[in-house]
Amino acid sequence: MSRIVQKYGGTSVGDVERIKRVAERIKAVRADGNELLVVVSARAGVTNELLARARAVCPAPDERELDMLLSTGEQETIALTAMALHGLGVPAVSYTGAQAGIRTDRTHTKAKIQTIEARRLVADLKEGKVVIVAGFQGISEHGHITTLGRGGSDLSAVALAAAVKADKCEIYTDVDGVYTADPRVVKTARKLDEITYDEMLELASAGSKVMQSRSVEFAKKYNTVFEVRSSFNFNPGTIVKEETQSMEKVVVRGVAVDKDQAKLTVSGLADKPGSAARIFRTLANAGVIVDMIIQNVSRNGLANLSFTVPQSETTKADAILQPLLAELGAVCTIDDSIAKLSVVGVGMKTHSGVAATLFQSLADARINIQMISTSEIKISIVLSQDKADEAARVAHTAFGLDAR
Ligand code: ASP
Ligand code: MG
Repeated sequence: MSRIVQKYGGTSVGDVERIKRVAERIKAVRADGNELLVVVSARAGVTNELLARARAVCPAPDERELDMLLSTGEQETIALTAMALHGLGVPAVSYTGAQAGIRTDRTHTKAKIQTIEARRLVADLKEGKVVIVAGFQGISEHGHITTLGRGGSDLSAVALAAAVKADKCEIYTDVDGVYTADPRVVKTARKLDEITYDEMLELASAGSKVMQSRSVEFAKKYNTVFEVRSSFNFNPGTIVKEETQSMEKVVVRGVAVDKDQAKLTVSGLADKPGSAARIFRTLANAGVIVDMIIQNVSRNGLANLSFTVPQSETTKADAILQPLLAELGAVCTIDDSIAKLSVVGVGMKTHSGVAATLFQSLADARINIQMISTSEIKISIVLSQDKADEAARVAHTAFGLDAR
């Protein structure tokens, strides 16, 4: 007998037929003698619909009220899932985040889980009931409903798995697992059997989103092993866990492309202490997230500084910088036809030549590199957006990732 936490995402519980199918799966796992705690998301699209309605009644809705509203999406699916199980003769009980003892801080719309008082859940599990918990929500110390940030049901699942000391945590979604690259772009992409927390986090920041990043950070912190798999078939998925020695043998685990970035170049900047600090302080104060940064060697005492920001922030970043740039005598140009390509793998820590292999493969394909940045387990480059897909394919092949 195992204690299993399963999480079903929005597409898996997208309509009543799908909810019934999920209930069948749950019934079968329980029939094998397992204890089961199930976390569900809202039906696909519901959270967005609720958000749109909130904005239709008030352009800048109060965040406490927003959480009150958004949390209803999950409340619908927990009740329906429990009812579907009852229909199959399976004892089940649904709980909101608050009822499940999920305590958070007070940061509405992106609250952090502080503690989970899981005694009630564990008692139910021991009695043989399937426990269904609403994902994405908790309650603050003052009794206000909070939500955990978009995609937050993943976090609920991972945190509950740690709280009830589950033997297994399974994240059910609409893809078979984590791939070496986006299979829509790289036809030879393969599903990975396993990946480390850090690789998963780097791939997410590089633009391939399978799970909410905060949930992966949480799992890493508490060393909660989980599996990402599809609820639409019975194929094994991808196990996400701490790295092992054998995982370091693979140099590059995956390739990711992010087309939602733009490059800003500030030119004619006086090459003296303080210029960069003022620019990035101004951006930081406005909440603009800067990713890659390069500064070239100055000529005639003037430097050029390029950096990338999310495309949705370019207008804001440009506007916010204008007064400062006028004062500094510099100008800013925007290029939003760029993309970021990243190769990720824990094996980079112990292998040399990764950058050389990547750059050579791009050179052979006559693809120009505009910017480069590295971390211990990632190399990212900025390139022209129309070359991004080809570059992903070329890098995928160069690192031996193609399906055989
Ligand atoms: N329903 C929430 C969202 O759409 C939480 C989740 O699905 O994980 O972001
Ligand atoms: Mg999700």
